[in-house]
Amino acid sequence: MSHVARLFVDADLSQGALVPLEEGQSKYLLRVMRLEAGAILRAFNGRDGEWLCRLQVNGKKAALEPTEQVRPQEAGLDLTLLFAPIKKTRTDFIVEKASELGVRTIQPVITEYTQTSRVRADRLQSLVIEAAEQTERMDIPEVCNDLPLGKALAAWDRSKPLYYCDEGSAARPMVEVLKGDLPQAAGLLVGPEGGFSPREREMLRALEFVISVTLGPRILRAETAVVSALTLWQALVGDWDKGPYLA
Ligand code: SAM
Repeated sequence: MSHVARLFVDADLSQGALVPLEEGQSKYLLRVMRLEAGAILRAFNGRDGEWLCRLQVNGKKAALEPTEQVRPQEAGLDLTLLFAPIKKTRTDFIVEKASELGVRTIQPVITEYTQTSRVRADRLQSLVIEAAEQTERMDIPEVCNDLPLGKALAAWDRSKPLYYCDEGSAARPMVEVLKGDLPQAAGLLVGPEGGFSPREREMLRALEFVISVTLGPRILRAETAVVSALTLWQALVGDWDKGPYLA
């Protein structure tokens, strides 16, 4: 079934309740995918599971008629990524990989050494929708507006561990820290090209919910650190004990 086009829609999904598509989606299905009336595709909205839908066409407008629910709604893991934005294409890479690797909330944080201007959360949100469609997720990650690091830490739910990728000290290996951990809500913090300032390191080390981890002896690019740490978390604590969804 994974060859059947898969679309995220905002509207509710229920048997026979027509879902009119926006212009962009209509154009994509009719002009790019060259689908015709009657074609079958899959739709999900992050609330009602995934539905097989029959395509209805009226001129340039397309609509979906949900016919059968093929996957129940699943609540994804409560995993948050706090990262300091870097150059645009690399930030896009981080956001796309975080979506594929099951992150629920993406919180850009502005740190002392962050070199990039503010991130456009709305632009990144369309990136995560595309990634979620492709990766067969049942939900869409939320991309938040950027916050100064201090504010993001002050707003952090202290019941959740925040794994701080710390390239500058003798932190414990992430595998060791995670082993035996429960698949609980958690967060991951990765710094910018220039790393964290001494003041930020001190602030982070003083917070009881912050757990410093090392990703080995080499200095990884921020995007490499994000993918590495998320991979370890999913493999050791997350949902990689489940096989891929063979739709
Ligand atoms: N401060 C580094 C330096 O002196 O070159 C550069 C920072 S690195 C490019 C960007 C971020 O990736 C770091 O702030 C850290 O969060 C993470 N990172 C990179 N290598 C790491 C490692 N070996 N262990 C833990 N985190 C790492």
